[in-house]
Amino acid sequence: MEIALVGIGKIALDQHVPAISESPEWRLSATVSRHGSVDGVPSYDDFAQMLAERSDIRVVSLCLPPVPRFDYAETAIRAGRHVMMEKPPGATLSECHALEAMARAHRVSLYATWHSRQADKVPAAKAWLAGKTLRKLTVIWRENVRQWHPGQDWILEAGGLGVFDPGINALSILTEILPDPIHLTSAVLSFPENRDTPIAAECQFHHPAGAEVSMVLDFLEPGEPTWTIRAETDQSVMVLENGGGKLAIDGKVDDSVPGLTGEYPRLYAQMAGLVAKGGIDMDLSPMRHVSDAFTLGRRVIVSPFDW
Ligand code: NAP
Repeated sequence: MEIALVGIGKIALDQHVPAISESPEWRLSATVSRHGSVDGVPSYDDFAQMLAERSDIRVVSLCLPPVPRFDYAETAIRAGRHVMMEKPPGATLSECHALEAMARAHRVSLYATWHSRQADKVPAAKAWLAGKTLRKLTVIWRENVRQWHPGQDWILEAGGLGVFDPGINALSILTEILPDPIHLTSAVLSFPENRDTPIAAECQFHHPAGAEVSMVLDFLEPGEPTWTIRAETDQSVMVLENGGGKLAIDGKVDDSVPGLTGEYPRLYAQMAGLVAKGGIDMDLSPMRHVSDAFTLGRRVIVSPFDW
C-alpha cells in the first residue's frame, strides 16, 4: 500500500522510515515536510498539493508535533485518506473526538497510535496482572529532555505536554495492562518560570479496589533514563522496565522472544489491518489522564529552563 509520511523530523527518521521500508505491506511514496525529506522519495512541502496530485496514496502517517496535527488530519480525512497519528493524537480531547466523528462520516480509517503499548513485554505484563489483586503500583518515568528532545521547543510550549510527552507513554502502557479503570485524584506539576508546560510531575490515582497508584515524571534526569512500572499484588511483584521492553516477576526475568519485533513495525502492521477492515482505533484514555492532571494539578513554579 502506498503511504505518505508527514513531518519529517526526529521520530519520522528514527522509526517510521525504517519500519515502512522493512514492511512488505507498505511503500513510502511521498513525504510532506517544510524542511525534511527522505532520499529517493518524492517530497512535497505543501500537503494539499500532495493530496491533489497523488490520488494513488490512500494513507497518510502524521509525525508532526501535536498542535499542528489537527489541521493536517482534518485535511487528509476530508480528502478521503486513511490517517495514522503519532502520540498524542492531538492537542486537546475535543479535537480528537472531532477527528473521530469526521473519519466515521468520511468512512476512512483513523489510528491514534501509542507506540509504547507495542513494546515487547506489554502483553505479558497485562496477562500477568489479570486476575491478581493489586496492592500498589508505581510509575517512574525519568529522562533527560536535553538528550531525548534536543532543541524541541514545541514540547515546552502550550499543547506540547512538557514532561507528559514521555509521561503519556507510561499512561498508554498503564491503561493497557491494568484490568481496572483508574482516575487521577491529585497532581503537582512543576512549571519552569519561562515555559508553558511542566518539567516534572507527581500524580496520584484512584483505584477501584483501593490499591495505591502513583506516577512520578521528571524531564531533568541527568543520568540514565528510568521508564519503569512496578506493581505489587497479593501474590508477587512485577517490574516492567525499559518502557515495556523488560519484564521481571519476583526478580525472574521473562526471556520469551516475541514474533514481529519493534514497536513501529507492529504499529504499521496494525494500521494495515485497520485499513483492510475499515476500522477506527481512537483510544484516548492515556490523554484523558493527562488532561485531568492539567485540570486538577496544583502548579508549582520552578527555575527557568534553557537548553
Ligand atoms: P520534531 O522532530 O520536532 O518534529 C517533527 C517534524 O514536524 C519537524 O521536523 C517539522 O518538519 C514538523 N513540524 C514541526 N512543527 C510544525 C508545525 N508547527 N507545522 C508543521 N510542521 C511542523 O518532533 P518529533 O520528535 O519527531 O516528534 C513528533 C511527534 O512524535 C510528537 O507528537 C512526539 O510526541 C512523537 N514521538 C516522538 C518521539 C521522539 O523520541 N522524539 C518518540 C515517539 C513519539 P518540517 O520543519 O520539515 O516541516
